[in-house]
Amino acid sequence: MKKTENILDWIKKHEIVLGDGGYLIELERRGWVDSGSGREKVGTGKGTGQFTPEVAIEHPDALRELHREFLNAGSQVLQALTFFGTREKLNRAGYGGQTEAINAAAVRIAREIAGTSALVAGSVSRTQLFEREGPSSADHVRDLLTEQIRLLADAGVDFLILETFFHLQEMLIAIECARASGLPIVATMTFRPKLTECSDGHSPADCARAMVDAGAHVVGANCEQEPERILAITREMRHVVNVPIAAQPATFRTTDETPCFTRLPEFPDGLESIQLFRSAFEKFAASAKSEGIQYLGGCCGCNAAYIHALSQGLGVSRTL
Ligand SMILES: [Zn+2]
Repeated sequence: MKKTENILDWIKKHEIVLGDGGYLIELERRGWVDSGSGREKVGTGKGTGQFTPEVAIEHPDALRELHREFLNAGSQVLQALTFFGTREKLNRAGYGGQTEAINAAAVRIAREIAGTSALVAGSVSRTQLFEREGPSSADHVRDLLTEQIRLLADAGVDFLILETFFHLQEMLIAIECARASGLPIVATMTFRPKLTECSDGHSPADCARAMVDAGAHVVGANCEQEPERILAITREMRHVVNVPIAAQPATFRTTDETPCFTRLPEFPDGLESIQLFRSAFEKFAASAKSEGIQYLGGCCGCNAAYIHALSQGLGVSRTL
């Protein structure tokens, strides 16, 4: 893929694009990212310093290496590690003053590794303010997302992935901010603690319709669940919209009672015990293809072995 190619043209031409995996959980396991579990109960969505992306400026070689591994496994998109990269979230972790530097470095590193072999996406996630303060934070959220998206656009990302939003209302603000950049928008909601509705009570179908109406070019779901549960969500979305659908599941086994890994007692320090076999991702690729998913990747827990399994499931050859 030429780096000048547009993600939407690529999907149209090749029908399916293979994304990458999850950065923060993998880098935490490798010792480069702080989970925050030593100081607080992680997984409430209301925490302070956990899982922020300062690794881009503090340990850039660790980030480079993970990008390289994804590319080698077949990823056609590299996401800049800008998840939780809004100023207020970074501020809570003690890195607010380096918001510009972290976002710019993350994009620069992703681009350096992608070269002309992959596109670079800017990752934009929920701010956590809707979970902490409720809808009254909307204006603050808009300011924070506007700033981060401007930093990502200035740094030269090819498109934006708005991901891991629990509240549809916050996602719609993000889409509005993203539209101002003129970049293609992939928007994926995350369903927690229920699969049937997001945190502000909208079904997957309603979320899909609303995201498309707001201007997203590709919609779908990411994180929290294993492939089978994510596919149930995207299937519902598929029926009501005509844009390409994206699915980026986690690699952890959840339960019917608690279908989201960040609410399980294993998060974040015992995740190895609920890690899926990578063969589940090979199977997922085949099902996703037959169900018309056009943007496929992984989220938390998905390292290069899982991307390789997706490549095999899709019948895509490795780049090296
Ligand atoms: Zn995730």
